[in-house]
Amino acid sequence: MIVSTGATDRVTITEVGPRDGLQALSVWIPTDRKIRLVSDLVATGLHDLEVASFVNPARVPQMRDGRDVLSSVPRSPGVRYAALVPNLRGFQDAQLVSPDRIAVVTAASEVFQQRNMNSTIEASFQRIEQIVDAARGGPMRIRGYISTVTDCPYSGPVDPARVAVIAERLLSLGCHEVCLGETIGKGTVATVSRMLDAVLAVVPADRLGLHFHDTYGQALANIIPGLERGIRMIDSSLAGLGGCPFAPGAAGNVATEDVVYLLRGLGLAPSPAVDLERIAFIGESFCHEFGLTHQSKAGHALMRAVRPNSLGE
Ligand code: MG
Repeated sequence: MIVSTGATDRVTITEVGPRDGLQALSVWIPTDRKIRLVSDLVATGLHDLEVASFVNPARVPQMRDGRDVLSSVPRSPGVRYAALVPNLRGFQDAQLVSPDRIAVVTAASEVFQQRNMNSTIEASFQRIEQIVDAARGGPMRIRGYISTVTDCPYSGPVDPARVAVIAERLLSLGCHEVCLGETIGKGTVATVSRMLDAVLAVVPADRLGLHFHDTYGQALANIIPGLERGIRMIDSSLAGLGGCPFAPGAAGNVATEDVVYLLRGLGLAPSPAVDLERIAFIGESFCHEFGLTHQSKAGHALMRAVRPNSLGE
C-alpha cells in the first residue's frame, strides 16, 4: 500500500527525455529544437530536467551541443537542470554552463561496466571521486546513478546486496542522492522489491530515485514498490523516448505521461501541478516531427481523447 504523508508528500519527476531520450537517436535534433523542447517541457510544469551530457562527442554525437543547450534554456527559480558527466573533463566542461545538478554513473554489474564504459567499477569510483572532489563546496548537487540494478544484459541477475554496497559507497563519497537504474527493463516487482529492500537497509528513501525502462512492460508496475517504500524521485522520458545504446534490447525509458497519470491517481503528482495533456501533445508532436516511435500509452490515450476523429485510422 502506498501511504502519502500529506499534501507536501509528492513525487519529483526528473524529465530525462532531452538527454537520455535523445542521446541514441541517429537523426540529428538541431540545437535550437532541443532548446525549444526543454522550454516547452518547463512550461508544462516539469521543473527538473536532464538536458545535457558532457561525454566524448565522438561516442555520443547527439550530445555534442550540451554547452549551447544548457546556456540557452530558460532559467528561473525552482527550475533545475541536470547534466551527465562521465569524468573530470566532462565536469569541467559542464561547470562552464552551470547545471544545477550533475549525474555520475557506475554500475552494479562488472561486465556491463566493462562493455559500457570500458572500465572496471573500481575505476568508475575513482573517476566519481575526482568529480565529487572538484564539485565539493560548489552549488551543484551530485546524483550518483547505478546501472543494471536488477539484471545485466550480459551476466544475468544482479545480487541486491551488491547494489546496496554501491549505493552506500556513492553517498559516502559525497553524492547527495542515488538513482537506481534498471537499465534493461527486465526486472519485475519481485526482483525490484528485493533490490529496494537491500538498498533501503543502508540508504534512506529520501535519498533514492528510480530510473526504470519499459522493455517488458514492467516499468510502471516496478515503480509501485518504490512508492510504497517512500521513494519520491522518479526519472521518466517524454513519450518513453530513449533506451541504452550499450544495452542490447533495451527499450525506452518509462514514459513521463504514464508516470504522471499513475501519480495523479495516487495523489502523488508533482506540486505545483504539471499539465499532463500538454506533455502528451508535446510528445506526440516531437515524435511526429522526427519520425520517432511514441511509446506512451497514456500519451496516446490522451491525444485520442482530444481528437476522437484520429481513431478512424
Ligand atoms: Mg534510461
